[in-house]
Amino acid sequence: MARLQQITASNLSVGGLEPFSLCDWPDRIVATLFLQGCPWRCPYCHNPSLLDAAAKTDFSFDAILGFLESRRGLLDGVVFSGGEPTLQKALLPAMEAVRAMGFKVGLHSGGVYPERLRDALALADWIGLDIKAPTHAYDRMTGTPQSAAHAFESLDYVLESGIDYEVRTTVHERLLSEADIEMLRRQLAARGVTNWKRQTYRTTGVDTERMNRALKDRESTMTA
Ligand code: SF4
Repeated sequence: MARLQQITASNLSVGGLEPFSLCDWPDRIVATLFLQGCPWRCPYCHNPSLLDAAAKTDFSFDAILGFLESRRGLLDGVVFSGGEPTLQKALLPAMEAVRAMGFKVGLHSGGVYPERLRDALALADWIGLDIKAPTHAYDRMTGTPQSAAHAFESLDYVLESGIDYEVRTTVHERLLSEADIEMLRRQLAARGVTNWKRQTYRTTGVDTERMNRALKDRESTMTA
């Protein structure tokens, strides 16, 4: 009989590691792990090499735990970023492993998988949740149908959990108009969001072909 393979923290596919970061969790000194895989295709994504969940990487989570062992007392915590961290089933055991070492745990997510995010929140001390647009404009920001429902359901889980959070929105002025941003401000306020940060679009790492396609699509819908 075939045996089901048990998913453990060692199965975590890590595409990048920032050993010392002051900007991935406000007011904390952290190491940040960039996890492989994301089903969305945001035109401004600055980590496109992380999108393929099946890509081979040079990192081993067990080796990263060894590195973290040497950083006890020097780091406040560890942030699981991406990609979309909740894509991987190994996320939860990996968060548990890091907690067991005494580190605080932070999480970055786009809210792609609301129920997985809800489960991960139980192991996190802080989350940075990307809310990319008001509901009507969401799909053009993610390149994926029905994405607003996932992101806003995830937001509801974050707010219900009582966890410390920051909601972040990357603003590209040709993809999100001032009217869009005002609509988003109202939608977030209606849900009770009190910590919302607008982030400036950065060109570093961006897939320019995807971005140019998105800008062209946007301009053609505005002139239609
Ligand atoms: S959700 Fe994040 S990782 Fe995924 S495509 Fe968008 S910006 Fe990139």
